Amino acid sequence: MTDIDPRSQHPAPQAATAPPGASAESAVPEAAQDPATLAETIAGLSEPEGPQTIQTDAGAKDGLSKCARCGATDISLNVATGNLRCNFCRHEWQSTNMNEAFGLDQGIGELRGVVMGSGSADIIPSTEVVMTFKCSACGAEVVIDTDHSTQARCHWCRNTLSMNQQIPNGAVPDMVLPFKLPKEEAVRKIAEFVGKRKFYAHKRFRAEFNPENVMGIYLPYMVVDVNARAHFRGQGEHQTRSYTVKVGDRDERRYDADLYDVERAFDLHVNDLTVESSSQRLDQTSSNTNNIINSIMPFDVEHAVQYDSNYLAGFTSERRDTNVERLAPIVHTQSQDIARHQALKTLGHYDRGVRWDAEHVEVVGQRWVSAYLPVWLYSYHEQKSGGRSLLHYVAVNARTGETMGSVPINQTRLLGASAVAQAVGTVLAVVIFLVGG
Ligand SMILES: [Zn+2]
Ligand SMILES: [Zn+2]
Repeated sequence: MTDIDPRSQHPAPQAATAPPGASAESAVPEAAQDPATLAETIAGLSEPEGPQTIQTDAGAKDGLSKCARCGATDISLNVATGNLRCNFCRHEWQSTNMNEAFGLDQGIGELRGVVMGSGSADIIPSTEVVMTFKCSACGAEVVIDTDHSTQARCHWCRNTLSMNQQIPNGAVPDMVLPFKLPKEEAVRKIAEFVGKRKFYAHKRFRAEFNPENVMGIYLPYMVVDVNARAHFRGQGEHQTRSYTVKVGDRDERRYDADLYDVERAFDLHVNDLTVESSSQRLDQTSSNTNNIINSIMPFDVEHAVQYDSNYLAGFTSERRDTNVERLAPIVHTQSQDIARHQALKTLGHYDRGVRWDAEHVEVVGQRWVSAYLPVWLYSYHEQKSGGRSLLHYVAVNARTGETMGSVPINQTRLLGASAVAQAVGTVLAVVIFLVGG
């Protein structure tokens, strides 16, 4: 068994793109196995069982969440230390790391069927989105709009009320990856990103650009571990000789190759695939710019901690609105891509390539844990002709600082620039022609 990071692979011609953020390990036998043995192996797999739940909110309380030292409820994340901090007495503490508490980084090979965190349970549509809590300090009713937050301040006594118990509306996940990159740093990254593209940017965008308006948002994701069996069968070519023959008055390149039946069967353990669990961003046809968030991956989800609403104080959040069933096909496809990628590493001998006639990746076991991941987001509404509008984002991974975005383009300047590029291209073509002649 070896640890392999699919992202570090150089793209080979038949390379499948591995999804970002996941690491995978596999044992791929060098030589093709006997098909009979493979068939037996696959037939011997146990049937997936019903979902097993990991209770991740045991002991969680709703209402006033107090500092252990002074009893204040004004608690928030100290981005510099990654700890929660009482804003009254400055006492700091840390939540439990999820991997340590629940062994989420272990036992992928033993996974069978579906295992999921209690915060990843199916959403029941009738569940309230706006929740009302009674403030235990003054008795007033406090409303929490779970579409954007799991906290609210009591208007009467100024205490903060938190919602930490999971209810089936997707608002309280199993875990949270706290913000690590301070806002000033995000503002700098966004200004730098836009600065490089300013020449082509829309005039109004340039005038209105103010990176201080960046918002810290926790986006909902599912973090998935996969135990899969892969089986590929096909034919590969290995070149033995290459030579030139005369065909009429032309030279033609020929080659001799050995043709092999190629077969690969292996176990695949995928750790921490991250899948969006907001239906809005899963919908690739919508007018917003979805791929931006994908390009600031990966997140170091191994540092995620047990959920505590205080991590969200001062930030906004987006509720998960999809279930495991809807996301499972995405995980299967990505596992297939990773398997293909892993198999490719063993095919060096077939220098003229391998064509798979049969590809079979079976997910034997999977573990789903819901998470909030931290992103700094600068958004801009571009007004287009005919009343249409396009939403542009610059997003910063609040763990790594990775930045990506889209900037509204000034069409005239862009066309001007491509005309120049074309002219340069023509000149170059002429030069090459002259040299070649
Ligand atoms: Zn305190
Ligand atoms: Zn109150």
